[in-house]
Amino acid sequence: MKKVACTHCGYEMPVVILPRAECRGLTVRCKNQKCKKVFEIKVEQGKQSR
Ligand SMILES: [Zn+2]
Repeated sequence: MKKVACTHCGYEMPVVILPRAECRGLTVRCKNQKCKKVFEIKVEQGKQSR
């Protein structure tokens, strides 16, 4: 299963993308202690786009 990755550092978040997922406009803070940046989760047809 694919996971959401931080668009700044690539850290894999504990968020799973299902095959037909669609998402935009959701922001989350990276859980990488060295990054901690806020990024938008964009998913089109189950694939994360940046
Ligand atoms: Zn990050």
